[in-house]
Amino acid sequence: MTDKSSYSPIHVIGGGLAGSEAAWQIAESGIPVILHEMRGVRGTDAHKTDGLAELVCSNSFRSDDATSNAVGVLHAEMRLAGSLIMSCADKNQVPAGGALAVDREGFSEAVTAAIDSHPLIAVVREEVSGLPPKDWDLAIIATGPLTAPSLASAIQAETGADALAFFDAIAPIIHTESIDMDICWFQSRYDKVGPGGTGKDYINCPMDEAQYNAFVDALIAGDKTGFKEWEGTPYFDGCLPIEVMAERGRETLRHGPMKPMGLTNAHNPTVKAYAVVQLRQDNALGTLYNMVGFQTKLKYGAQAEVIRMIPGLEKAEFARLGGLHRNTYINSPVLLDNSLTLKSRPGLRFAGQITGCEGYVESASIGLLAGRFAAAERKGQPLPLPPQTTAFGSLLNHITGGHIVSDDEPGKRSFQPMNINFGLFPLLEPGAITKPEGVKRFRGKDKTVMKKQLVAARALEDCATWLKAV
Ligand SMILES: Cc1cc2nc3c(=O)[nH]c(=O)nc-3n(C[C@H](O)[C@H](O)[C@H](O)COP(=O)(O)OP(=O)(O)OC[C@H]3O[C@@H](n4cnc5c(N)ncnc54)[C@H](O)[C@@H]3O)c2cc1C
Repeated sequence: MTDKSSYSPIHVIGGGLAGSEAAWQIAESGIPVILHEMRGVRGTDAHKTDGLAELVCSNSFRSDDATSNAVGVLHAEMRLAGSLIMSCADKNQVPAGGALAVDREGFSEAVTAAIDSHPLIAVVREEVSGLPPKDWDLAIIATGPLTAPSLASAIQAETGADALAFFDAIAPIIHTESIDMDICWFQSRYDKVGPGGTGKDYINCPMDEAQYNAFVDALIAGDKTGFKEWEGTPYFDGCLPIEVMAERGRETLRHGPMKPMGLTNAHNPTVKAYAVVQLRQDNALGTLYNMVGFQTKLKYGAQAEVIRMIPGLEKAEFARLGGLHRNTYINSPVLLDNSLTLKSRPGLRFAGQITGCEGYVESASIGLLAGRFAAAERKGQPLPLPPQTTAFGSLLNHITGGHIVSDDEPGKRSFQPMNINFGLFPLLEPGAITKPEGVKRFRGKDKTVMKKQLVAARALEDCATWLKAV
């Protein structure tokens, strides 16, 4: 940090997706930031590098469709708000159909370089092992799902709440040259080109019925990581390990990550695959592909064996095998006010996945808001809340109060981490969905599409208006 500013600094703890974005937003508003990141001194179970904003699993920021997809709308709002995470993602995009996927190393290096070279940001490599000292009058805790245990205990002691944990699993990454392209083929589902793709962005591995059944049996029988320590801890439904899905029913995988719809085997176009495993490009060079939706807690030996049963992956070489991790988050609807401040400690905010949002983009967006709220507080000019009709507002509302706490069981934690989705947005005005002129058939499916488009357009318009006013 070389520049002088008349403001005293705001402390951000954790240089992940949320903390990096928060630090950037604060510094861009002219206020100095001290960013405390422990990697370099102490690692986590999932991070592999010391880089800021490291992506711990998939390299995808999911759909980039801002016209009818909720996460695409959140991307667009973040771009409007000058997000560092989005600008580094856009600069490091790799082809992935309608999704925004990134070269994970290039992305993290870009975020690290931008933060390191910002004149108002100082990065301190240290573990913060307790709540911020009182002289850090404004601080943001953005230490993520793998918050170091000493800080997690301090948060628990301050909030009096039982730390709620759930399981999260990560998917394997495979060296492209070990994939048999005489069996597999390149194609995006329904040949979707998307903003950064070609229509042939995924590698597809076909399975017939017998191969699928044998694979499901092997998954169920495979040796799993023991998890006595965490017994009774629920899974997050959006990130179920494949073997847990297989145990839920023989057909579950075929209707989930292994669905064959919208894909035609280029080597055998007349025979429809019974199930398909998809792999998505993981780095700009195209030398690595990750298995889409294939998070797993199978032990390494069993995992390699079972994955090599997939046609085309018989000789797969793994850059990283899948694994299982614990994930913790606070009971935000009870503990935080609507600007993400801990009610019991004015000046102390939370951001990112620890607040109970779920996903890279969601974590970064809550970091963006926490950073802006803290900067506005430092300047003595409170920030109006983003309208609930925006993706920012709907996610913030879910975390800080939108989730209903049951009156019958007031002590019970029912708050679950949530990805952004249209269910979090307020309803449209009655009569907003009408049959367009000249259209003969206007079915339920058409109404759903129109509803998403209208909600998305309203969100972007309201976000632009909010940003102009702040
Ligand atoms: C195993 C796993 C896999 C996941 N896979 C995906 C996925 O595929 N797609 C997706 O969208 N989301 C995924 N998530 C969820 C979530 O999006 C990511 O965890 C995301 O990185 C959360 O962003 P964050 O900034 O809140 O936390 P992080 O990115 O984890 O950043 C927190 C930072 O705080 C640092 N830190 C922790 N404690 C301290 C301390 N006491 N002092 C100083 N620094 C500290 C950590 O080193 C880390 O750099 C996954 C989560 C986990 C745990």
